[in-house]
Formats: sequence, structure tokens, C-alpha cells
Amino acid sequence: MPIFEVAREEATRPGTFFYHVQDGLHYHRSHIRQGSTYYNCVLAGRGCHGRATYDVVDGFVHTTPHNHEPDMFYPDEMALRRAILRRCERLEYMDYRRIIFEEGRRFAPEVVARVTYARMRTSMRKAWVSNFPTHSQPIWWN
Ligand SMILES: [Zn+2]
Repeated sequence: MPIFEVAREEATRPGTFFYHVQDGLHYHRSHIRQGSTYYNCVLAGRGCHGRATYDVVDGFVHTTPHNHEPDMFYPDEMALRRAILRRCERLEYMDYRRIIFEEGRRFAPEVVARVTYARMRTSMRKAWVSNFPTHSQPIWWN
């Protein structure tokens, strides 16, 4: 039975996405050729060669095996990371750990365990700096 329902969810960087068919394997879109869409595993950077294709006849098909187990928590992990980074982009003046704690309350413990301060602080700082008004004068407290 071909699968035609492909979920598209926002990744951590604004305007980037990942795709999946609710089976624990997640992809970034690679390219489109002759009516087929090609996907690479989101863990390609860590050496996974997992691939998939989509077309209107065969639907979504995993074409190259992955070197890891399916991960059902990945979408929630991305959602939590996204929520945290969006708050940093809004330049909230709040301790990073506090933001992680507050956003994490909406997620399962398995997800929260992965989104630690140690893993998030660099990208949180980048998100914060990315929206900082670069041409404004510094603000001084007196
Ligand atoms: Zn993979």
C-alpha cells in the first residue's frame, strides 16, 4: 500500500524543514528530478546514507537503508529545540536554563533528556545574536 501522506515539519533553522511518514525515519529534501522528490536522512552528517523518494505513483519509498534505529521522538525533539530557539530570537532576557526548563514542561521526559543546556547553549547564543540589532547603540544601565 503506497504512502502518500508525507509530513513536513519545521527544522531548527527558520525556513528549513524535515519530512517523514510517522515511522521514526526523518529526511531533508535533496532535490526534485523528473517528477520524483529525493530525500536524504537527517543524520547524513553523521554518516547515515538512508534515502527515500516520493512520486505520485509509488508514494513515499525508503530506498537506501539507515545505519540507526527509527527514532519516534525526533519530531518532538525538533519541536522543543525550535520553541527554545524562537524565544532566543525574540531576545528574551532570561536565563538559558530557565527557557529550556519552561519549554520542556510541554514534552515527554525522553525528549527533555535530549535537549540539555550543554547541547543547546551554542545554538541558543547564535539565535540570540542573529536578531540582535547590530547598528544600534549599546544600552547602558546607570
Ligand atoms: Zn538515517
